[in-house]
Amino acid sequence: MTTPNNQGPATRIIHNRRHKDAFGSPYSPVYNTTTYRFENTADLLDVIEGRSDGNLYTRWGTNPSIQELEQGLAGLENAEAALGFASGMAAISATLLAHGRNGIVCVGDLYGGTQELLKNHCQALGIPVTFLFRKEQNQLAETLNEPGKLVYFETPANPNMAILDIRAIAETAHQHGALVAVDNKFASPINQKPLELGADLVLHSATKYLGGHSDLTAGALMTSASLAKPVVAWRKNLGQLIAPETAALLSRSLRTLPLRVRQHNENAMAVAQAMEQHPRITKVHYPGLPSFEGHDLAKQQMTGFGGMLSIEVDGGHQAAEKVADSLKVFLLATSLGGVESLVSQPSATSHHGLSREERLKRGIGDGMLRLSVGLEDAADLIRDLNDALTQGC
Ligand SMILES: *Cc1c(COP(=O)(O)O)cnc(C)c1O
Repeated sequence: MTTPNNQGPATRIIHNRRHKDAFGSPYSPVYNTTTYRFENTADLLDVIEGRSDGNLYTRWGTNPSIQELEQGLAGLENAEAALGFASGMAAISATLLAHGRNGIVCVGDLYGGTQELLKNHCQALGIPVTFLFRKEQNQLAETLNEPGKLVYFETPANPNMAILDIRAIAETAHQHGALVAVDNKFASPINQKPLELGADLVLHSATKYLGGHSDLTAGALMTSASLAKPVVAWRKNLGQLIAPETAALLSRSLRTLPLRVRQHNENAMAVAQAMEQHPRITKVHYPGLPSFEGHDLAKQQMTGFGGMLSIEVDGGHQAAEKVADSLKVFLLATSLGGVESLVSQPSATSHHGLSREERLKRGIGDGMLRLSVGLEDAADLIRDLNDALTQGC
């Protein structure tokens, strides 16, 4: 029951089904099972020894609810294969362990959890890890001094929305025999398809836009069948599989992903434009604004600019804190990509552990607030910000 590839993403994800049931239900039931019974030992051995396809044990990834989710996820990035995980970090760690053991080269700013994984765990395991600032991109070729390394980056990056050129980095990496992994969760597959721009592996925290309702934790990897294979083994033996119930909930969320992302894009643009005009805002970081440094590049490689932006409030850290605390529609919370708008202050949350100098070096100003623009009415979001900026004076 696979759907044809010439259909658009909204059609494909809505009609993503692997099985037709006896009752005519348009959607599949949740297969809450850990195991599968066989008629006889010969049938069981056929599956174990690879002579026939069949499910054996859910942790291995063989569960109809998970497989249906993975078919949908693959379709979203036009990938040959996709894997579902219990969290974004599970997807990232399994991918790094399967493909990064010869060395990992990171470009630009990374999510805090990924940074911790690389610094505290990958390096402790003896994996060489190199971090390049965005402005040090031109050193990429020399860091890829032996083949078989993995280049890893995020674009847009957290929290300054910095844009990296996926096509150019992939070209350099491939010339030096390296693979390329892109964390695509800020953009979502609706706004950006890194595989089509040359990346080999695309990672998502499905906790964010893919889930979209701040009610599930999950992760995904989209890639080729051959690159997925070693990751399946790590996922199985580290026990990182997504639960069937969560997989079904995520499949439900994916059916509205194209629609939600379009509205996130529209609302974020309206908020960004309003904030750009506000006298108390010194800077707006949003890839969709012509004034943004990475705008031209974003226009080339993205089909929408996303729901994430950051603003810099005149008056520094305390002024920004007052604004964050005065907002009523925006909730003060970490995470992103849900239907509800969220505000967080990077210096108090995701980048709390860095010194002021380190933050400034990464383009994180003292008065920066990161906004995850949700699906409320844009006029209410703008009014909320305007009110908070007046009260927070
Ligand atoms: C949230 C996030 C992650 C981690 O995802 P979890 O689902 O929380 O494990 C990784 N990378 C980025 C950019 C994120 O925003």
